[in-house]
Amino acid sequence: MKLVFFGAGEAFHDFKGNISMLAMGEKNLLLDCGYNIPQRFWQAYPDKDFLDAVFVSHFHGDHVAGLPMLVMRMRQDKRTKPLLLIGPEGFEASFKRLYDTLYKGFLEVSGFPIEFKEIRGGSKLSVGSMNLSFADASHLVGTQFFVPTAAIRVDSDGSSFCYSSDTTYTDRIAELAKGCNMLIHDSFMPASAEYHKRMPAHSSPTDAGRVAKYAGVKRLALFNIHRTLGDAAALKEAGSEFDGEIVTPSEGDSFDI
Ligand SMILES: [Zn+2]
Repeated sequence: MKLVFFGAGEAFHDFKGNISMLAMGEKNLLLDCGYNIPQRFWQAYPDKDFLDAVFVSHFHGDHVAGLPMLVMRMRQDKRTKPLLLIGPEGFEASFKRLYDTLYKGFLEVSGFPIEFKEIRGGSKLSVGSMNLSFADASHLVGTQFFVPTAAIRVDSDGSSFCYSSDTTYTDRIAELAKGCNMLIHDSFMPASAEYHKRMPAHSSPTDAGRVAKYAGVKRLALFNIHRTLGDAAALKEAGSEFDGEIVTPSEGDSFDI
């Protein structure tokens, strides 16, 4: 399985793409599609039939706002092949509302079947030979900002990766990622940042390193590094917990998983 990054940046970075990855195996699965991803995606994969499925981890703009644009272009390009859209509880209604707000009435005349699948922690699903499993992430739990957020693990032909999405530290993701070849984990602010006390939204690089160590993964990829933290500092902090390979993927980077 090959994993291609369209971005790994935080939501409001000056130039880095939103966190978005393409898992390529027997089928092609896109993981998250934020507001600045569609043009990056079309430049690399213009074929209207290329994607088999899209997983949306949660309903925040840097994870889902680009998806209506992808779907709209598939319609314009006269796609007929079905598309599977996967997301957490409430995803189908939220997506339909967003699409209808941006392009009123067009979802009903897409011209190709769109299947929605809502998942929750413990759910399992197959896309071709890719076996997908999910855990509930911990993103803004107990606050007025809470949205259901899912972490995903993909296993295919003996290889595997796990994507935490936006989350504070949770054992659930450490369990989900057990033995994976690669873990892609939220690393927003340093462990010492006041932010973590104010907002139960994101992890520190230390948290990411702890999860990687517990799960025994081969490689850790840090994403969502805040623009004021910087990659070098995040790598150093995560490295204090995890002594395997640690990377900070850039747009266009690909990994054989
Ligand atoms: Zn989020």
